[in-house]
Amino acid sequence: MRTLIVGDRLESTAMKFILTAIFAVLLTSAMSAANVDDATRQLSRDIFQQLIEINTTDSMGSTTTAAEAMRQRLLQAGMPESDVVVLGPNDRKGNMVARLRGTGKGKPILIIAHLDVVEAKRSDWTTDPFQFVEKDGYFYGRGTQDMKDSDAIAVTTLIRFLKEGFKPNRDIILALTADEEGGTFNGVDWLLKHHRDLIDAEYVLNPDAGAVMTDKGKPIDVEVEATEKLYADFQLTATNPGGHSSLPTPDNAIYEIADALGRLEKAPFPFELNPVSRSWFEQVVAFEAAPVAADIRAMLKTPPDAEAIARLSKNPRFNATLRTTCVATRLSGGHADNALPQTAQALVNCRILPGHSKEEVRQDLIRIFADPKITLRYKDPATAEYLDKAPDTKAFLPSPPRQDVMDPLRTIAAKMWPRAPVIPEMETGASDSIYTIAAGLPSYGINGVAIDEDDIRAHGKDERLRVQSFYEGVDFYYRFVKAITSE
Ligand SMILES: [Zn+2]
Repeated sequence: MRTLIVGDRLESTAMKFILTAIFAVLLTSAMSAANVDDATRQLSRDIFQQLIEINTTDSMGSTTTAAEAMRQRLLQAGMPESDVVVLGPNDRKGNMVARLRGTGKGKPILIIAHLDVVEAKRSDWTTDPFQFVEKDGYFYGRGTQDMKDSDAIAVTTLIRFLKEGFKPNRDIILALTADEEGGTFNGVDWLLKHHRDLIDAEYVLNPDAGAVMTDKGKPIDVEVEATEKLYADFQLTATNPGGHSSLPTPDNAIYEIADALGRLEKAPFPFELNPVSRSWFEQVVAFEAAPVAADIRAMLKTPPDAEAIARLSKNPRFNATLRTTCVATRLSGGHADNALPQTAQALVNCRILPGHSKEEVRQDLIRIFADPKITLRYKDPATAEYLDKAPDTKAFLPSPPRQDVMDPLRTIAAKMWPRAPVIPEMETGASDSIYTIAAGLPSYGINGVAIDEDDIRAHGKDERLRVQSFYEGVDFYYRFVKAITSE
């Protein structure tokens, strides 16, 4: 549904009052219907559809095709040819970099958004994952949540700025990139290494993180990613001479791996809060039922209450926020039904808290497994090789919150999602912000697309996004980027 446009520069107080009153009524009746005109609605939907229907999976897709399509869109909207390029390490892993010129008052800002999507099988899905389907108030297709919605929104925002001749106070750079979900040509990493000048900025916005969380469409909070955990894979290997299975020996490679994993299961990493996770708990405590809220308060005390921590740790989201986690994700071993195993292996995936390194965690795991016969190797994500040592670099400490980002965000969020507080959070997953933060660019995960807490389908089957959430996201991003690049 369309609502009237409540302008930012209304002169008449009376008029402003009347419009605000009408707007408030509309807000309560239709819960924050997006503030976008029909042409913008159509444009953003067309771009969204186009992106969903271009396959950008690592196995058979091409981010170059998608990058080129978005370049054409920006050229048609009047962006000079010299300000928008597609480049990459090969012809299937292209990245688009566009620059909307500003007055140069401030250093540029960089928006990063990945174009690639996770694999999706037609046979697993109800509809074709690479067909854009609108049904029952939702858009369906691979990438509707992660993150072609935000790609389309960012491109739409730039096109609107171009069409209205908006001159930001600084350049706005948009990089649409490859291989966030997998593959060996991560676009953000590649651009930083090969074309740093093209994307150098004062700070980075990454809509792949952060979220407007809703419960059946009702806003709960607006989460901003202030820091994230560090990803690391480790491989355990046990070897044995093996032999005939009719003559079992006390040492057995499969038992050794199984026992080691059993010890891991019973040895959670220590409880640790950082400034971001602490303030996140301080704020979410208001939304929790009484017993959980009491546990959170007891956990936040000095010294923290161990029993409260144990109870809270049963909730996966809380648990992942309270500690480094390492979990078995793969298992293999043996070579014949009637032979003693010569080799057994497992893979353990870790998500490491800020301030700790991968090598530190590898040493922790060696202590936990407590079996010198097991070798523990680190899997290098760039080459997929297994190494005897892991890097010493630590997970990044939070980028300090910037007032020039947080203030406009709070103002706009209060209008669009009244009563939903803006809360900085630590992302338990990983995004391309690890590359930009490592390159010295403070990075913030901000996203105005609302998703129901129990409807997170990114990477899963029948991925979908509420139609209204998409248009709200279009509205939000335009207002937000304009606010941080004005004056
Ligand atoms: Zn993503």
